[in-house]
Amino acid sequence: MANIGAVTRQIAALEISSKQNGASKPARPTHQKHTSQTSVSKLLTKFAAPNPFPDPKAKAPAKPHHVKGSSSTSSVSKLPTANAKAPAARTPSPPKNDAQGDIDIGHYDGGFEIENEKRGEAVHGEAAEQLALDSSVSRTRPTREWHLTDFDIGRPLGKGKFGRVYMIRTKVEPKYILALKCLYKSEIVQSRVEKQIRREIEIQQNLRHPHVLRLYGYFHDEKRIFLMIEFAGKGELYKQLTKNGCFTERRSAIYIDQMADALSYLHSKHVIHRDIKPENLLLGINGELKIGDFGWSVHAPGNRRTTLCGTLDYLPPEMVEGRDHNEKVDYWALGVLTYEFIVGSPPFEDLTGYNATYKRIAKVDLKVPPKVSADARDLIIKLLQYDPEKRLPLADVRRHPWVVRYRTKAPSAGEGS
Ligand code: AMP
Repeated sequence: MANIGAVTRQIAALEISSKQNGASKPARPTHQKHTSQTSVSKLLTKFAAPNPFPDPKAKAPAKPHHVKGSSSTSSVSKLPTANAKAPAARTPSPPKNDAQGDIDIGHYDGGFEIENEKRGEAVHGEAAEQLALDSSVSRTRPTREWHLTDFDIGRPLGKGKFGRVYMIRTKVEPKYILALKCLYKSEIVQSRVEKQIRREIEIQQNLRHPHVLRLYGYFHDEKRIFLMIEFAGKGELYKQLTKNGCFTERRSAIYIDQMADALSYLHSKHVIHRDIKPENLLLGINGELKIGDFGWSVHAPGNRRTTLCGTLDYLPPEMVEGRDHNEKVDYWALGVLTYEFIVGSPPFEDLTGYNATYKRIAKVDLKVPPKVSADARDLIIKLLQYDPEKRLPLADVRRHPWVVRYRTKAPSAGEGS
């Protein structure tokens, strides 16, 4: 049986990771554009990325006019083609790779079917149209057609608010391992997030970065939407943080480096994350960080910080005060993350209530404990600036002595691996 690390390397060889997206150069200079547009929703919809998911059926996949460096040979074009309807000559075949077929994906408990009997209902009208999400007919990045029957289903990975997540493997060679997330349409409608889900799925499908979980495709049936997501083999970062209490500075610095790399990429695509926090981060099979949530999955209650609108702890002053904001909200969140990784709790947490947290954030009431090294403290302070323009740019975060000191010698995604 192949070990999962070997398979990961093979998947990397298939360029599921970043080789062709330009993200693998050392400490790229930031190329995020200065966004005069402060409307986040506009920014979120104004993104561009290469299209590596050409539709086997499409003669000439549409290429958005604003796409730079588009490559038809990138990873997803090499995903297996289980669909017999797909013509053979559309994209280069992936290298033969039998190992993924050997991986134990665990026992399927029949959860999708059991749940489908009891949960959700068909939606009609405009909502049905909005949620008829199918990457094979995507306007910008059409893929092949996918169906639940194209996969072997394995162990449950978790539960989100709108449905379950399972480890799956494509039935055809080279038998890709993925996570399949199910969302119940009627529950999305009840939560009134149809448009948001649609938009976020479209955004996510266009992102390619080693530290951003990849969305390979999506399809739907009468009641459900299924998302084919890159499998994050080491699970939730939040669980690790809870288990360990905090991380060493070395581990924290490596994550922060990877986060800064991913955020630079997102910002270059005019995508502001706005919800960076440990709960939204997963870990790849090599322990590398993966930004895993673009808002479509409202988390299930559990050991996560769930409030009406999520934790307040990562909100920057401009959001707390209801002012306009831009991509520098993510710089602030990176500062909060750095602090929480090292200290074990976020810097402005105030257990007496939200108002107290709000006030602490607005005053930047920051107290860095003595155990934090001088370099880490320096970075935290430079990110947690009240004035967004004064926050340390992401390229400088990646050049900061604290980050550089702990950067792994082994090639990592942002370092030319
Ligand atoms: P979510 O609906 O995104 O909150 O997912 C519910 C749970 O499923 C998460 O807390 C993870 O434990 C797990 N999960 C979600 N996506 C993935 C993935 N891509 N790889 C591995 N586990 C995942």
